[in-house]
Amino acid sequence: MSTYDLVITGGRIVDGCGNPWYRGDVAVRGARVAAIGAPGSLRARAAHVVEVADTYITPGFVDPHTHSDVTILEAPQAESALRQGVTTHVTGNCGMSPAPLSTAAKHREAALHNYDHYFDAATFEWTWRTFGQYLRAVETSGTAINIAPLVGHGALRMAVMGLAERAATEAELLRMERLCDAAMRSGAHGMSSGLVYPPGCFASTDELARLATVVGRYHGIYTSHIRGERETILAAVAEAIEIGRRAGIAVEVSHNAPKWGAPEDASANLALMDAARREGHDVTTDNDVHTDLSPRLSRALPQPILDLDHEALIALLADPTRRDEIRRAVKEDELPGAGYTGVVRHGRFDRIVVLHAERHPELRGRSVAAVAADRGRDPFDTFLDLIVEEDDRIVGIFDYIEPHNIEALLKHPLAMVCSDGFVVPPPDDPDDAASYWPCGYGEYSGILERYVRDEPLLRLEEAIRKMTSFPAQRFGLHDRGVLRPGLAADLVVFDLERVRDRATNLFPHTYPFENIPPRHSEGFDWVFVNGVPAIAAGELTGALPGRVLRRRG
Ligand SMILES: [Zn+2]
Repeated sequence: MSTYDLVITGGRIVDGCGNPWYRGDVAVRGARVAAIGAPGSLRARAAHVVEVADTYITPGFVDPHTHSDVTILEAPQAESALRQGVTTHVTGNCGMSPAPLSTAAKHREAALHNYDHYFDAATFEWTWRTFGQYLRAVETSGTAINIAPLVGHGALRMAVMGLAERAATEAELLRMERLCDAAMRSGAHGMSSGLVYPPGCFASTDELARLATVVGRYHGIYTSHIRGERETILAAVAEAIEIGRRAGIAVEVSHNAPKWGAPEDASANLALMDAARREGHDVTTDNDVHTDLSPRLSRALPQPILDLDHEALIALLADPTRRDEIRRAVKEDELPGAGYTGVVRHGRFDRIVVLHAERHPELRGRSVAAVAADRGRDPFDTFLDLIVEEDDRIVGIFDYIEPHNIEALLKHPLAMVCSDGFVVPPPDDPDDAASYWPCGYGEYSGILERYVRDEPLLRLEEAIRKMTSFPAQRFGLHDRGVLRPGLAADLVVFDLERVRDRATNLFPHTYPFENIPPRHSEGFDWVFVNGVPAIAAGELTGALPGRVLRRRG
């Protein structure tokens, strides 16, 4: 009789706490790590032995900021996550959980339509209404990775008042509180907010603090895509801290790199958080290391313009007599807007590179500034011309984050690693380059390849800590994120020399793009989720051993 289902032998153990690696055997029984022993000492008692010649064994990576809520139903095998060592996704971020949904058809439609701005809501049937029903839908579907859900403030608000552009009444707030309470009882780890998008941008600090107080009854966390990551970033960080202070709960400031147009570099946000902690407020942050994103060009226009339907948008942009009005709207935009809108507002058209233009494929790889120079035309006009010429189907890579800010956050003790990505469903056409989501494929691999191995900024053990025990502890996943007997057997084996991110294109982007279309990361040979191999000797097994991790206690 074997004592252990499995023993991994020959590797260097990185425990997830930041301690230097050591050599040892790791034994798994069922879904847990059963023992750690001296090299070679446990193998005789194993039903299966996995030899991992001198590679690293670490806890599975916990991604604290993802948007996999619905894509995990489309792609339960989660290959894009597993291939970079990620075994848990915290979902429901930026205010956008897919539940609860309203029973009123009008509000339900509004919620799905709003979701459609980011993901194709129609690819999966939204069979649930409550948060608990949504979690059961994920369980029924099965997943290769664990899902640790947050409830989105935007979802709570839309379930009660649709996309109403106003403050909530007391009666509406009471209903939101009840829905928040129900989501927390169903197992949410906390509440997220997204305060630059509708409907979050219409919510007051008071509204958010009231709901965060409900989260506090269950010792949950408040996470926030704050109310502006550019010009207003410091006031927005201060608001997040204030909401946590009023509710008496921990705060996670999401993907906190200053975006183009911010008045100061990342050290200013971090100083605010350090100061809050000295006063006893539990605030931390996370960040991903990508400088770029690839929305349609029109997505960088102010919200009132985005609210227009397709015909009205094209008619507005095509009318030469209205250009000054649009220019003014962009300059004076009062609503916070997504981070990448800053490059348009500040006229940095050299930072927008055409990725996909059906009618003018020859523009691919050229910046909007370069196209404008070719045409002898003003860059802002050219930006709008291109949207009209391409019938709003032109996609650009927006470089809206400065590498030095990314590096400052990566090194700071208060910042953990996140992807801000999602489980990427396999594309219908593998050569499809219409979109570029490097973070979904190459976040963890990219950090290990670039910032640990090639241009060392972090010790390996410190990088792994920011990918494992730090986020696990932050979201109350106390039996994960550390490699220790008795804890969950979410384990990753990788060869640092072979780790490769095949999805990221470094700034400045040069055409042809090296990593478009994006491919899966390399170098991760074994990935175990709850003791079951999801990647075995480099091959995806297709197993679905992931669990929905509900908040406990
Ligand atoms: Zn966000």
